[in-house]
Amino acid sequence: MLSCQHITQKASDYIEGKLNFWQRLKFRAHLRACIHCDNFLRQLRLVIGYSSRAGHQCASEAEVQQVLHRIRQAESTSS
Ligand SMILES: [Zn+2]
Repeated sequence: MLSCQHITQKASDYIEGKLNFWQRLKFRAHLRACIHCDNFLRQLRLVIGYSSRAGHQCASEAEVQQVLHRIRQAESTSS
């Protein structure tokens, strides 16, 4: 199974559809088993969805990094 670190690194590729079939399959398997990454993907989708609707093309990467940072902090304090 993929590690949580791998998931957070590849999350934006997954959402943008850049991963191949097997990578997506492994991604989904992890998301079913891991509530942390499931929540992370949900938040990341919201951020990316908001950015594209608002037309902030340059802001999305910074916002993604912000969410990544927040999730990593939450993970390190909860375990
Ligand atoms: Zn995970």
